[in-house]
Amino acid sequence: MQSPSTYSHPKMHLDMLKWCRSQKGAPIAVIENGDVLVTKKTAPNLQNCKVLMKNKGIKINQIHIRSASEIDALLAQMDPHFIQSLSKVQLQLRNCIEKAISQNVSDVHIEVRLTQCEVKFRQLGELVLYDTWSTELARKICFVAFNKETDHTQQHFNGHIPQDASMSLQLTSGIRVRIRLASVPAHPFPSFDVVLRILNTDAQKQLNLSQCGYSSQQTQLLQTAIKKPSGAIIIAGPTGSGKTTTLAALLSTLPKHKKLYVIEDPVEKIISNATQIPVNTEVDSKGFASMTRQTLRLDPDCICIGEIRDHETALMASRAAMTGHLVLSTVHSNSAINIIQRLLDLELTPSQLADESFLVLLAFQMLIKVLCPHCAVPINDCKLNQEDIERWERYFLTDDINFFDQVNMHRSYAKGTTHHCTHCNNSGYLGRRVIAEIIWLDDISREYILKHDYLGWKAHLQRAHFHSHIDQARLLIKHGQVDLYDAEMILGQFSPFEKEIQGINYNNIIKSSYDTEQTSTATD
Ligand SMILES: [Zn+2]
Repeated sequence: MQSPSTYSHPKMHLDMLKWCRSQKGAPIAVIENGDVLVTKKTAPNLQNCKVLMKNKGIKINQIHIRSASEIDALLAQMDPHFIQSLSKVQLQLRNCIEKAISQNVSDVHIEVRLTQCEVKFRQLGELVLYDTWSTELARKICFVAFNKETDHTQQHFNGHIPQDASMSLQLTSGIRVRIRLASVPAHPFPSFDVVLRILNTDAQKQLNLSQCGYSSQQTQLLQTAIKKPSGAIIIAGPTGSGKTTTLAALLSTLPKHKKLYVIEDPVEKIISNATQIPVNTEVDSKGFASMTRQTLRLDPDCICIGEIRDHETALMASRAAMTGHLVLSTVHSNSAINIIQRLLDLELTPSQLADESFLVLLAFQMLIKVLCPHCAVPINDCKLNQEDIERWERYFLTDDINFFDQVNMHRSYAKGTTHHCTHCNNSGYLGRRVIAEIIWLDDISREYILKHDYLGWKAHLQRAHFHSHIDQARLLIKHGQVDLYDAEMILGQFSPFEKEIQGINYNNIIKSSYDTEQTSTATD
């Protein structure tokens, strides 16, 4: 994916802004990445705008339809003095970030090597090439990002040592975006990588739980848990699995009369009803624990601790929950059951974990790509590897039906197809959604935890119709919402051998009543 060469100088940007503002009665705006905003595609001045941009050597990126009031508001926000104050390199940095935001990118990787630089976007969890820059330009952009735009202006960029910083970047469209920068030296000298993580923008909208992809039953459980006056809700998942989005969705449902503290490293999403406390665990490794201790003195109702990754924080979380506060946090583990194992590793005792005033709900989630229904094709029409087909047939084969005939599986178009899909911009995907599993801690579960009997607990959960995140993925595959290869990419191969030794009857899963209607974009 190559970026269009857009404004090469702030002066051009300024000229376009002046022209857009002169278009009374027919609102039109051009932003720094070459996107044009109009009220309708047949707007009479759109053609003039295209000609003007062409004459100035600005490539048109995408045309967006927006309301007149939105365009007017955007034009009013664009400050000509601010644009004029920017250097060419500062504008190029903003152009790249604006483009990343418009494509729902989580991280921008700037890989500076001896002769050239590749700029990659992490989009829907995967890296895609966005552009190639000259080494000279890339170095200038990294220097400007670190030396001129970051919050800590005393720091000077040095590609030979690992560095990190954060910045609050104002884009020319008026949007402010928070970004964390990190760099590392690379071979051969003097190569380096700079990665920009986009934390939030002030224009971001808050997703609710079902928009994240939680089933209606799971949403109900989470909503019941968040209404409890005390106890702990723990969410697990790998890095970049949308845990922060889920936490923000949960916290936004807390009533206004509750005092909420959110302790984060760093602050990612803005939560309007919370006091958000940044901690820097690079500098203070006990940051989460000491800040939790501090918030307990500040009359809290609910405390959200960014992550539990040491004994002190685990202990503070249990203490806060057991003294009548609602606690939300995350841990790294590979299933909901394993959250218990993780907390044991952090030296909480089985009796602490089984205490009914501590854990309320355990959740585990991952993000999976959702196929675009407009351009996905039935699996029978796809050229597939014979070995994969045999493996899946054995895996999905139930007692009396052939899964491949029974279900309506789809696979997206391979990239590079000549077919054009306007619904997904030819990506084949609508976004990502959560696949999750939730355990509500009942008395029987607590007994199993106390006895260290995890196999017994698992069997108990299965009898109680527990559905794992893998079950949810299988159901989405069955409904043609998720591609088999994409599912295997994050879950590992669907191995018939593994299933046979587990001895689980998958008929029940296929007949289960999961709500698979929800599809949405979730970002971490
Ligand atoms: Zn499509």
